[in-house]
Parts: sequence; structure tokens; C-alpha cells
Amino acid sequence: MVRAIVGANWGDEGKGKITDMLAKESDIIIRFQGGSNAGHTIVNDYGKFALHLLPSGVFYGHTTSIIGNGVALNIPYLVNEIKALTDRGVPKPKILVSDRAQILMPYHVLFDAYEEERLGNKSFGSTKSGIAPFYSDKYAKIGFQVSELFDDDTLREKSVRVCELKNVLLKHLYHKPLLDPDELYRTLQEYRDMVKPYVCDVSAYLYEAIREGKNILLEGQLGSLKDPDHGIYPMVTSSSTLAAYGAVGAGIPPYEIKNITTVVKAYSSSVGAGAFVSELSGEEGDELRRRGGDGGEFGATTGRPRRVGWFDAVASRYGCRIQGTTEVALTVLDVLGYLDQIPVCTGYEIDGVVTRDFPNTVKLERAKPVLTRLPGWKCDIRGIKKYEDLPGACRDYIEFIEKEIGCPITMVSNGPGRQDIIYRNVK
Ligand code: GDP
Repeated sequence: MVRAIVGANWGDEGKGKITDMLAKESDIIIRFQGGSNAGHTIVNDYGKFALHLLPSGVFYGHTTSIIGNGVALNIPYLVNEIKALTDRGVPKPKILVSDRAQILMPYHVLFDAYEEERLGNKSFGSTKSGIAPFYSDKYAKIGFQVSELFDDDTLREKSVRVCELKNVLLKHLYHKPLLDPDELYRTLQEYRDMVKPYVCDVSAYLYEAIREGKNILLEGQLGSLKDPDHGIYPMVTSSSTLAAYGAVGAGIPPYEIKNITTVVKAYSSSVGAGAFVSELSGEEGDELRRRGGDGGEFGATTGRPRRVGWFDAVASRYGCRIQGTTEVALTVLDVLGYLDQIPVCTGYEIDGVVTRDFPNTVKLERAKPVLTRLPGWKCDIRGIKKYEDLPGACRDYIEFIEKEIGCPITMVSNGPGRQDIIYRNVK
């Protein structure tokens, strides 16, 4: 059975924790898009980890972790991330890298930084991991596929061709040092040696795994609202964050994805720029940020303070719909225990008209939140294991959200650890 775990919001919903938890019953966990630009934070018996490129299943001995063809593969980063785990006592995970994955090059990171610098205060707030230049090159057909590392002639020829093109921009647009084709070629040879032990024909591997009835998890990065097509373009990421893309980015038939578990956060948070209707400013926002996540809302990759706001039912309903959600994991609910009343954004007012439908970006910029206030439960719900043991007001909040988003909430996460989860039977 193939299950996708994806985010409904702006990312940082806690997908890492849910994946790590569900990986226990899985055989294979696959990253199918994005790169090292976002992080998953995982707390388990080995300690607290921020994973950027590796799938969140790497902590179990029985799982195979796969970097799918849809990922932006930063090879030295991958090698370092594996080392960082083994250095802290995690057994060396079994890792496979698709021979069709493309390689994120050092110049992608440079171009990312140069472009942000050039745009100044009009920048996209990129994490400067090279993701946008990487995907641009992939679709411009000047990227390097892992398979090409094993064909010397192609490597040499392409190194020259790529440098010619890049150097025009470096010289005339950015006024920065030029690339040297010989050096690029040498870097690619080093990458070949580093990645060789992991390279695999992943779609063929998964074809067999599906036939054998293996349990497979597709792990998404970021969330619906950062999808380049269906998100808040242009303040989006450069690869699709949707479960549907899991089929492409892993190389499996779309109809094999039987379960789409969408992770929804009990309040809103977003790193980076872009419209954020229920955003809180001032002391209210500072307090939620301080209390949020596991020790405050700060980006796992960048350390940047995240923007925070009340739960946005309009955005989350849309986020769940566009993922094709079959069930929802509602996370970080424990954080809200300090509030007397909990506002929820249940509509957007755009040009004097209230709507419950998430609009396109142009209209979104003009939207103002319509809030509904629910009673708080004023206690710490961490450690509670059964749904019935949650305070009534807390269950009311969950059931209100469930009704708003129109998808069954089957899991409620009440803490960062693997064991902090409440399963719920929804008829
Ligand atoms: P991801 O990118 O979706 O995996 O999300 P992140 O890992 O960036 O952010 C989620 C943060 O919330 C991490 O610090 C997690 O340890 C933490 N977290 C996840 N679930 C819960 C929860 O139920 N309660 C609390 N307090 N923290 C959680």
C-alpha cells in the first residue's frame, strides 16, 4: 500500500514527526520533491534531529529510505547528513538514490544568493539552497542527472556547455567570478564517487515492491500553499508539494497512492514572504511564536523566526482538497492550551464580500480574516493518550476544525515525540 504524507498549509506542519511515527509500520520511505531547503524536525530515542534531505524513516533498521527522481539532490549534503546520523549513534540507514534524480550543483547555491542580492528588498526570501536555479535548469534541460555521472563524454561536453551559459550571467548580470569547466568536471567526478554506493533504478525497485505488497510512504516537503501551481504563486517553492506529484517524483502509478494523509497544524505558521491572512503581529504573535512548535517557531533549515497566526480554515480546507486528502493528522494542538479563547479564521473578506473559498493570489492579497472564537481548555494536554480523555473544549476545537475542513481527523498530535499521538476512530 502506498501512502502519501503531505502538508495542507505553508509547511512546518509536523510532517517529519508523523512520517517518523508511521515509518515504524513501513518498508520504504521516499522523498519525491524539494531538496535540502526545508527541514523536518524529529524527536525520538536517539535525540532531536533536523533532517533536510533524508526521508524521515532513516531511524529504523527495517526501512529503506529513497531519494526519488523528483528531488533536488545535493550530494555532499546527503553524505554529510548520513554521517551526522551515524556520528550520533543512529545505525547506518539503507539508502537508495534514483539514477534519474538531478544534481544540485554548487553554482545553483551561488545563483540563488546572487539573485536574492540583486532583487534586494523585492527578494523571494529564498533559503538560498539553490532550489529555484536547480529546477530552472532541470526544465531548461541543462541539469545533470545522476545517470550522467557515469558517462564521461557527456560530463565533459556538458560541463563546457553549462559554463558558457552560466558565465554570461555571472559576468554581465551579477558581476561575479566565472565558472571553470575543468573544475566543474572534477567536482562531478567527486560526486560520482560519493553517490555511487546508493544509485538505483528506483521506479523498477518500487514496481517490484508494490507487487510484493510492501508498505510505502511518500514524504512531502512544505505544504499545499507552497505548490507552484496551486499555491500562493510566486511566493512558492519550485517543485510540486502535492501528493499527486508523489507518483511522478518517485516513479509509481498514480492509482497506487491509496491513502493521502494530510498534516494540518492546529494554528498557522509560515516561513518566508507571501500572503498570510490570519497572521498575528505584536505581543499576541510573539507569545504564540515563543510557545509554538517544540521550543518556539523558528525555521528548521534557516533558524528564521516563523510568522504565526490563528488556524486558517479557509486555507486549510483548500489545502486538504488540493491534496486529495483521505485523512488528517492535526498537530501541535498542545501549544494552544494557554489561551482563554481561540480565534479561528473561518472566512475571508475580499472587497466587502465574505468568502469561504481560497482565492488566487491576486485576490488573496486583499483578503481580511473573519474570525470565530472558540473557548480554550486552559490546561496541558501532553501525555493524554485517549481521545475521550481530552478536555471537552479541546475536543470541540478538533471537531470544529474537522467540520470546517471536511476531512476526518484520525490522529491528533499533542507533543513533539513519537508517543505523543492520539488515534481517533472516525466513522
Ligand atoms: P515539517 O517540516 O512539517 O516536518 O515540520 P517541522 O519539523 O519543521 O516543524 C514542526 C515542529 O513542531 C518541530 O519542531 C516538531 O518537533 C514540532 N512538533 C511536531 N508535532 C508537534 C506537536 O504535536 N506538539 C508540539 N508541541 N510540537 C510538535
